[in-house]
Amino acid sequence: MIRLADRSECCGCSACASICPQGAIRMVADGMGFKYPETDASLCTDCGLCNSICAFRPSDTPASDKAEAIRFPGLLDSSQSGGLGYALMRKAILSGYVVYGAAMDGDFTVRHRRVMEEKGLEPLRLSKYVQSDTTGIPSMVLEDLKAGRKVLFTGTPCQCAGIASVAGSHRGNLLLSDIICHGVPSPSVWKDFIRNQEKIHGKQVTGAIFRDKSLGWHDHRETLCFEGEKQVSYEYTFLFYQHLMLRQSCTECPFASLSRPSDITMADCWGVEKDLPGFADDNRGCSLLIVHTKAGEDFTSDFPDECVRKQTPMPVEKQPNLYRPSKAHKSAAAFERVYLKKGYAATWKRFGTDSRAYRFEEFIKKVKRHI
Ligand SMILES: Cc1cc2nc3c(=O)[nH]c(=O)nc-3n(C[C@H](O)[C@H](O)[C@H](O)COP(=O)(O)OP(=O)(O)OC[C@H]3O[C@@H](n4cnc5c(N)ncnc54)[C@H](O)[C@@H]3O)c2cc1C
Repeated sequence: MIRLADRSECCGCSACASICPQGAIRMVADGMGFKYPETDASLCTDCGLCNSICAFRPSDTPASDKAEAIRFPGLLDSSQSGGLGYALMRKAILSGYVVYGAAMDGDFTVRHRRVMEEKGLEPLRLSKYVQSDTTGIPSMVLEDLKAGRKVLFTGTPCQCAGIASVAGSHRGNLLLSDIICHGVPSPSVWKDFIRNQEKIHGKQVTGAIFRDKSLGWHDHRETLCFEGEKQVSYEYTFLFYQHLMLRQSCTECPFASLSRPSDITMADCWGVEKDLPGFADDNRGCSLLIVHTKAGEDFTSDFPDECVRKQTPMPVEKQPNLYRPSKAHKSAAAFERVYLKKGYAATWKRFGTDSRAYRFEEFIKKVKRHI
């Protein structure tokens, strides 16, 4: 039976719930919207499968040492970085794979979905800076693999680790593509942020973009559409970068390393302007590609979409999460307490950009810069 001593021990991949032969494990959301396994003791036979399938531990694959800058000119405007994510998924579909990736539903819930046709890939584009729900997905992937289908799964490294573990001996037909991951924010805070904006504006939010590429690749603010009218803000993104609402396990992530559970890693190729002058100076985006396995190397050797690519130094300062997990904000526990007790608006007032605590911290930083 799964017994979590601490929430930081579980990344929520749902591998344990998918594999339980008794169907004794349910994924249940806490107040932040992060899901954890809950076992029905009356169904559990203590077979131990749930504990043995758990893959939330360091990967033993050799660390990669080669990185490439890659961009797909035709995909730049509609992808988050250089279009690598979409190019991988499109190649997979054209090569007969089933693709799994993160999409946002009409009610702003982010969850993984299964796609078999090119037109189904559109919602998987762009980064959703919130934990994507993968409940039930590992079983679906396993079913596909058992039926002899080839599968491309794209997601966070912990989700990829869970999928690899469930795939077991069927791993041969499975290609895993992860992202360098800063940590996944709270699904509940995301939705309550939207509801609060609706209250403030007295209008419904009809669409949301976590990081609006039309503002430039380097810009990171959220854009909300209110019945046709666009508004750009730096509220949700601020909370994300302050590490106030990350899943607890993200701050203990064993995959923040060059040794990964996946075949391919994709990310933003930050610093490309300095490392490869002239390659991607137009602020329209560039992807970073790191390959970990022979399968990953073969798959990324060419693409149906036109691309330019060049070897680049392995990023160090620009990609801290390739070496260590994000550190929780010192007030992350207080943030959660206030949020659960008083709701989003009160929490933003206390921890947001206009809060006394934040303004005081900024003032101290300013003073220190001038000493
Ligand atoms: C929570 C989060 C943290 C990130 N942290 C970093 C970082 O520290 N450094 C960095 O360089 N890049 C980070 N990224 C990755 C980056 O933002 C881009 O997603 C990545 O470079 C792919 O861009 P693209 O243009 O190649 O893909 P696109 O063509 O835009 O496709 C997006 C791909 O990302 C996947 N995806 C989107 N949202 C999620 C999600 N919530 N969970 C799992 N998979 C998702 C989709 O399935 C799809 O495959 C992060 C992304 C997320 C979602």
